[in-house]
Amino acid sequence: MMEIFENTETAFALKSDAELERAYYLFRMISVEPLVKIGTSLTNFAIKANLPVEGLIRTTVFDHFCGGVSEEDCMPVVEKMWDKGVCTVLDYSVEGKDTEDPLDDALAKTLEMLDFVKQKDAIPFAVFKPTGYGRFELYKKISAGQQLTASESSEWDRVVRRFDQSCKKAYDLGVSLLIDAEESWMQPAADQLVEEMMRAYNKKDFIVFNTLQMYRWDRADFFRDQIEKARSGGYKVGVKVVRGAYLEKENDRAERKGYPTPICASKLETDQNFDNAITMALDHLDNVALFAGTHNEMSSYKLMSEIESRNLKKNDPRIWFGQLYGMSDHISFNLANAGYNVAKYLPFGPVKDVMPYLIRRAEENTSVAGQTNRELELLKKERKRRSI
Ligand SMILES: Cc1cc2nc3c(=O)[nH]c(=O)nc-3n(C[C@H](O)[C@H](O)[C@H](O)COP(=O)(O)OP(=O)(O)OC[C@H]3O[C@@H](n4cnc5c(N)ncnc54)[C@H](O)[C@@H]3O)c2cc1C
Repeated sequence: MMEIFENTETAFALKSDAELERAYYLFRMISVEPLVKIGTSLTNFAIKANLPVEGLIRTTVFDHFCGGVSEEDCMPVVEKMWDKGVCTVLDYSVEGKDTEDPLDDALAKTLEMLDFVKQKDAIPFAVFKPTGYGRFELYKKISAGQQLTASESSEWDRVVRRFDQSCKKAYDLGVSLLIDAEESWMQPAADQLVEEMMRAYNKKDFIVFNTLQMYRWDRADFFRDQIEKARSGGYKVGVKVVRGAYLEKENDRAERKGYPTPICASKLETDQNFDNAITMALDHLDNVALFAGTHNEMSSYKLMSEIESRNLKKNDPRIWFGQLYGMSDHISFNLANAGYNVAKYLPFGPVKDVMPYLIRRAEENTSVAGQTNRELELLKKERKRRSI
């Protein structure tokens, strides 16, 4: 079954020769850690200093990992992927805004995306990030159990309202909404809010999905607890299961502040934790829907095997595979070709605002052992097949 991921012709069918070349050189570049470190600092500096680097970023990393500046820019990509059976999750990836206007903009984007989800089969989920809707420091303060000032309390009320408006609209339209997970020191406030949303809007259908970062050793218990609460509260649990994108930040902070790291002791433990979460979701499929967000071939294979051994349909509407645009096309397109439900996150937004996202992708492809090499190996194989 693993050979399924080896078909590079299917994997890269949408890439022109020029795009294939760009991907190849891009991954070669970001596989070199010092280059990413220097590139990241230079880019951050250039953007802050208003140097004209946007064009360069756009034609290199941005166009590889993003659909464009606006949702309209993304539509040709959405259509092309849909042609190959791969769905899209439009991801407005503007991060780290502290004033109210961008927070309301993010809400407006989600509400707009929910209409797309209703209208287009190619777009099965909307998504938002908790810090898109509220200030990081506010989540952090609540997560630490600290008292809010009067003005912070009303600020939080507005965050709650943004969550509620989004989830209620998803519920009214009968469509699904994924909510991303972020750093562990802001996540308790977000988790609490998402749980309330599930309680309110997941009575009948899988509308609201929380995200579980399985690099956290406490998430298996958390998941078990969520399933239990939903069962007794008479509502359903939607979960996006991922490994987690803030590994170094988490470990650094824990070390600096002198508390035990929330991260699993090894990659192997994270892998086991992730795969166990998949099993746990499938064991409770009567009340749980699963979106497995991963570029890991073994985990994808594990989910495929479980679907088969449990006699579930490949396209069971409660089970989705997910990858990020610009990564692991060999998984996405081959799985879709075999009949599984697959969706790729397609980020969009102004170039300088999606930089934190792009930097995370570059760093992830550097520090994650094996992943870039695998990507490069497949790109090389396809270049050879096309005799480029
Ligand atoms: C569709 C989709 C949605 C996503 N949404 C989110 C989200 O909401 N929040 C979020 O945080 N991330 C999100 N991610 C990113 C995700 O968390 C991972 O960073 C990324 O997918 C890489 O993990 P992987 O499963 O593909 O597998 P791999 O490449 O096999 O694993 C890499 C991951 O393993 C973990 N890891 C690596 N080394 C160690 C170590 N020494 N000890 C312990 N663990 C280790 C880290 O989490 C690392 O990212 C999403 C990814 C996808 C595909």
